[in-house]
Amino acid sequence: MADYDLAIIGGGLNGVSIARDAAGRGLRVILLEQGDLGAGASSASPRLIHGDLAMLERRAFLRIRAALAERDIWLGIAPHLVRPLRFAIPAHSDERPPWLLRSWLLLYDALGSRPRLPASMTVDVTHHPIGNALKRPFGTAFEYSDCVVDDSRLVITNAVDAAERGADIRTGARCVRADRLDIWRLVAIDRGHRRVITARALANATGAWTATTAETVLRTPPPAVGLVRISQIVVPRLFDIDNVYVFQNVDQQLIFASPYQGDFTLIGTLSRTFKGDPAVVAMTAADVAYLCDAANRYFRQRVEPFDVVRTISGANSVVDPAGRGLARDGTFAFDYRRRKAPLLTMFGGDVTTSRLRAERAVSRLTPFYPMSPRWTSKTPLPGGDFAWTRFDDEVDRARERWRFLGEAEARRMVAAYGTRLEAILGDAKNRADLGPAFGAELTAAEVRYLMTKEWARFADDILWRRSKLGLTMQPQDRDALAAFMAAAS
Ligand SMILES: Cc1cc2nc3c(=O)[nH]c(=O)nc-3n(C[C@H](O)[C@H](O)[C@H](O)COP(=O)(O)OP(=O)(O)OC[C@H]3O[C@@H](n4cnc5c(N)ncnc54)[C@H](O)[C@@H]3O)c2cc1C
Repeated sequence: MADYDLAIIGGGLNGVSIARDAAGRGLRVILLEQGDLGAGASSASPRLIHGDLAMLERRAFLRIRAALAERDIWLGIAPHLVRPLRFAIPAHSDERPPWLLRSWLLLYDALGSRPRLPASMTVDVTHHPIGNALKRPFGTAFEYSDCVVDDSRLVITNAVDAAERGADIRTGARCVRADRLDIWRLVAIDRGHRRVITARALANATGAWTATTAETVLRTPPPAVGLVRISQIVVPRLFDIDNVYVFQNVDQQLIFASPYQGDFTLIGTLSRTFKGDPAVVAMTAADVAYLCDAANRYFRQRVEPFDVVRTISGANSVVDPAGRGLARDGTFAFDYRRRKAPLLTMFGGDVTTSRLRAERAVSRLTPFYPMSPRWTSKTPLPGGDFAWTRFDDEVDRARERWRFLGEAEARRMVAAYGTRLEAILGDAKNRADLGPAFGAELTAAEVRYLMTKEWARFADDILWRRSKLGLTMQPQDRDALAAFMAAAS
């Protein structure tokens, strides 16, 4: 008998979503991630939970409707990680005409299944805070509702749920070989130790490594995929309001500028074809200049490449349109042959539909195992057991319970952990009860929680994926954190 029902290679959003879905349906699951969870494309996503306005131009109405239904589901199951915001598109005379934008947005509203979020509207920016950061002579903007998500915490939270449902999540475990018999026999280098694992089915969810994994680890013909790099820049805050600006660039690309971690603005996303090693994806100077120029067409405050405090890039596979045997949404393939164990192969895809993609992929295994029904659309992710409309109440409650928390700090922690905050702060009466601090906000209590419950091993795992505190942390605090973690592990 095989050790597991399903082995998953890759701990990005696709891998952990499959792990959560399958573990919750009663399968014995193991997930192997060579580095840290979410360290690939999944922490470089556009961070949008949306129907994707650009799809309106391609008349992909069914796809938008399905994505907007997923947006509703995310609000229900991850109210801490997913935040509804108003998005503003300033009307630029050189771009798509205002009547077209307005009709797009009316259609976008109509495609949403239930009116959970406020409808779109036309705004006179000369008398609206949206206009404060914009250059003159913008007179009109169009506002609509969508959501943003903390992408890397979404990965971790899915993994936590999968683990709590019995999945074995192994980070620092690289799969180096997988032989396909009537079961899969995998060899992994797990934190320096060679380990043999058997499983009845395998999911290749290695993102940009999908083709290489097929060729060198599974030794099967590589799927016909291309690689795309996506990039964004982080700059000091360009505006004070809690809106996302959507710009239409001269080449028709839509560029988003979002509030980011309080003091910053995130500008992106730029997609380019990519060749090279996915482990070292970096943004080019030309792409940084492109995003600065895009912002400078709209914002009063200029952004220059030297203002950029961080670039965020990731690569993922995109399916060759000629690829055969793919699911209808083109984002996974399922392969089963007589006397050969089943193989699922995932290809990139967006964050919004990741839950649905995993649900469909795992459902393809139903002929092979007894499995309980689909469940992930109704069950909150860990910490998400409250209504999204009560996020502010959760923050107030946290501040009442732990009076030493500042407003911004409480918001960060509720947004990251939701109702699981109790597991970190417990009965603490003051900051000293939480142990040594690394910078203004991070305490030993939070670090210990992240190490024991969320697989954090190194300082960067905490500073860039489980939080974004790396943006503001001083080098001496970072060194102290690294030393603390080394001693605690
Ligand atoms: C071009 C592009 C466009 C995108 N467009 C959108 C969009 O419109 N909207 C949106 O929301 N998101 C978008 N995304 C981002 C989206 O976040 C990701 O595609 C999504 O998170 C899925 O990532 P993944 O799990 O497939 O890959 P990844 O997050 O890269 O995960 C793959 C993991 O596999 C691991 N791995 C590789 N080989 C091995 C091995 N041998 N053993 C163990 N582990 C291994 C890697 O370390 C990595 O962590 C886009 C991304 C890209 C690159």
